[in-house]
Amino acid sequence: MCAAMQTAPNLMPIPGHVDPVPVPREAPMQTDGRKSLVGLTREQIRAELEAAGMESKQAKLRAKQLWHWIYNRGATAFETMTDIAKAQHPWLAERFTVERPQVVEAQVSTDGTRKWLLRTAPDSSGAGHDFEMVFIPDADRGTLCVSSQVGCTLNCRFCHTGTMRLVRNLTPGEIVGQVMLARDSLGEWPSQPEGRMLTNIVMMGMGEPLYNFDAVRDALAIVMDGDGLALSKRRITLSTSGVVPMMERAGKEIGVNLAVSLHAVTKEVRDEIVPINRKYGIDELLQACADYPGANNARRITFEYVMLRDKNDSDEDARELVRLIRKYKLPAKVNLIPFNPWPGAVYECSTPERIRSFSSIVFEAGISAPIRTPRGRDIDAACGQLKTSAEKRSRAELDRLAEEKQAALG
Ligand code: SF4
Repeated sequence: MCAAMQTAPNLMPIPGHVDPVPVPREAPMQTDGRKSLVGLTREQIRAELEAAGMESKQAKLRAKQLWHWIYNRGATAFETMTDIAKAQHPWLAERFTVERPQVVEAQVSTDGTRKWLLRTAPDSSGAGHDFEMVFIPDADRGTLCVSSQVGCTLNCRFCHTGTMRLVRNLTPGEIVGQVMLARDSLGEWPSQPEGRMLTNIVMMGMGEPLYNFDAVRDALAIVMDGDGLALSKRRITLSTSGVVPMMERAGKEIGVNLAVSLHAVTKEVRDEIVPINRKYGIDELLQACADYPGANNARRITFEYVMLRDKNDSDEDARELVRLIRKYKLPAKVNLIPFNPWPGAVYECSTPERIRSFSSIVFEAGISAPIRTPRGRDIDAACGQLKTSAEKRSRAELDRLAEEKQAALG
């Protein structure tokens, strides 16, 4: 992994990171003063062109052309934009960029899973920040697992990312830029509805997407725009650890499929594994799921459940899971995820027999509960393994970090 993350970057407090509030954003500025147009809406591109001195009518037309070139054709340089006058290319290139995040490292697993270590443009301190994305090819689909933050404020105990501090939220450009990079790598420009390898997106990489609500919403709007990256909302899933106050807004303003990192069915165990449970408990969370706009039997809510030996994997836990799903009348499916250990992890994976028994109980109650095959384990790309630092922290340091994060949750 990249050494850049070993020198702890400046920590930037995110206002409202527990009960997030919209944070106004400007187009990201590069250290050379140019602004990135990736991640901006048509209207924002028009406003940037006008602010740079372009006449208003022309700015409107150019914004439309730029949008098409950036998101539909995947252009990475202005000189390739053939319907924009050649004489104007240098003017644009002096003021703006259409670059994606930098690729620091790309790895391919023996099972075909690909992981990219990415870096943001340098900020005012001169440092870029590292984050990851993962592409998981299957016979009938290709899923890109996208990050929303560098690090995470939460400290889910089974998750390697949770041992990182939050460095900062990713911008819409850095979120949508991940999808664009994957398209670059798969050779999938221009955007077309059929025959793609990249068919699905899950907001399940580094970070809690609902603690970066505005940027995730704006990025996904571009991903879903028919003249943008043109991916259907039915093929996008947003995963939350349970930021209850933002769930209804997510349903109304983003409208994609919902996945919930449930992982436990009792307060005691979930408080330990997913500490946000101390703030928003299981009943509150499941009620928010029942109220999630757009959830129905055709668009079920996915409950992620990592299988931890002697922690959350008993038959009694499985029966309680069924009881809770029935109590809240949830259109649900359950993903059982064998735990992927990482150095310093305090848990072990449940035995295959235990996982099968758990799965059978849920299946027999009429609820789908497939056991996920871990992907990309050899390149640390599997669920809960993402972490962009080679630093090794002692158990005591991890515990101290966990305490700090939990104190922030109140
Ligand atoms: S599971 Fe998600 S929310 Fe929890 S610590 Fe990991 S990245 Fe953060």
